[in-house]
Amino acid sequence: MYDPRSLKAEEFISDEEVLKTIEYAEQNRNNTELIGQILEKARQRKGLDHREASVLLMCEDEQMNREILDLACQIKKDFYGNRIVMFAPLYLSNYCVNGCVYCPYHLKNKHIPRKKLTQKEIEKEVTALQDMGHKRLAIEAGEDPEMNPIEYILESIKTIYSIKHKNGAIRRVNVNIAATTVENYRKLADAGIGTYILFQETYHKESYEKLHPTGPKHDYAYHTEAMDRAMEGGIDDVGLGVLFGLDLYKYEFAALLMHAEHLEAVHGVGPHTISVPRVRKADDIDPDVFDGGISDDVFEKIVACIRIAVPYTGMIISTRESAVCRERVLKCGISQISGGSRTSVGGYCEEEPEDESSAQFEVSDRRTLDEVVNWLMKMGYIPSFCTACYREGRTGDRFMALCKNMQIHNCCLPNALLTLKEYLDDYASADTKQTGENLIEKELENIPNEKTRLKTKELLGKISEGNRDFRF
Ligand code: SF4
Ligand code: SF4
Repeated sequence: MYDPRSLKAEEFISDEEVLKTIEYAEQNRNNTELIGQILEKARQRKGLDHREASVLLMCEDEQMNREILDLACQIKKDFYGNRIVMFAPLYLSNYCVNGCVYCPYHLKNKHIPRKKLTQKEIEKEVTALQDMGHKRLAIEAGEDPEMNPIEYILESIKTIYSIKHKNGAIRRVNVNIAATTVENYRKLADAGIGTYILFQETYHKESYEKLHPTGPKHDYAYHTEAMDRAMEGGIDDVGLGVLFGLDLYKYEFAALLMHAEHLEAVHGVGPHTISVPRVRKADDIDPDVFDGGISDDVFEKIVACIRIAVPYTGMIISTRESAVCRERVLKCGISQISGGSRTSVGGYCEEEPEDESSAQFEVSDRRTLDEVVNWLMKMGYIPSFCTACYREGRTGDRFMALCKNMQIHNCCLPNALLTLKEYLDDYASADTKQTGENLIEKELENIPNEKTRLKTKELLGKISEGNRDFRF
């Protein structure tokens, strides 16, 4: 029985409800009257439920589809302006006891080099990341209770926060590790992590069990209920995601939104972020064997419909996607991207080209962070290295409350400009610096509150004098 308030995976992600949703959406895919009503509701910026959003996703009417995309772009603009938050993944260890058939780190892959960073090596990787200009990391590690116990993850987080190289600092560490116990989540919360990210991969239980034939991850319920344990353990911000291409995207889409509704119903706060990775080629992995692959057009529509359904939830895309695809989805929904990423353990200290035999997936966007920052600015976006909310204690429901009464805007733009200025002064190439200085000059005028604008100008001056780390 479907119950968003239940704590049982099979009840809050009820297979029956997902199938009924798909049937309803397919029946109404040309019902322009209903689609018009849903769009009207969405224009009030209060989001949509999984059924309404699924109807938009499956809509076949060309004119309506243009309206859906336009609305997603408008909501993106209203909530996130032209700011894009930057981050980088940091792979700590690729030892893993699971058998995920789409991931090269699966236990049976005997020809991939296995590696686990020592604290000394983490220091080197983080120094390299700081030298690129990164302030926000997402750490990644395979599941291996002996090689990567929680103590190793906690020690690594401590090391990362402790490194202050030149003007660099990692100010927010998000964590992407396997589903674990409430007790371990509490330890992560106490270590001061930002968001706890866990991809569901697929919500379809039968497919999930086939795709995860061995290892602790095989347990669908334990994995799907992980976010509830994380929140019980005191983690305010959690990040959802599915790996598009593993099962039918219509199924994943509806279930993903049901998961978000469940978190809101039980914990009073929805997911902080949603990631939208697609299956990529890697050692021992051929994406063509997965029959749920989706085209760029469908991918764009998924992003747009998620944007409309959960306007307050940040959306993340990685360097799995090409520059062209990233440009498309930035417009209609994505608010956070990675740049200059290496997806292998120790990748930031390796000589170019990256030793791809040990990468978790093939990177499509191979540009440096400076190139990505430059590219974003030339398209009119403001790359932001902001981590202010987390550091000011604006997490979970406090963050959502700010978002919902639109107060967040008084923080985001000035913070984006201040952190961009730090980047320009410390790490940018000459062309990027010039482009960025012009952009800051222009964007300063868009800070609505005069007092905040004056204060931002004053702080920008202080950054020029060598001071760092101001925030609103
Ligand atoms: S997806 Fe994660 S859990 Fe699965 S094999 Fe890869 S690293 Fe291990
Ligand atoms: S002010 Fe908060 S919401 Fe805005 S970019 Fe910074 S951390 Fe994100």
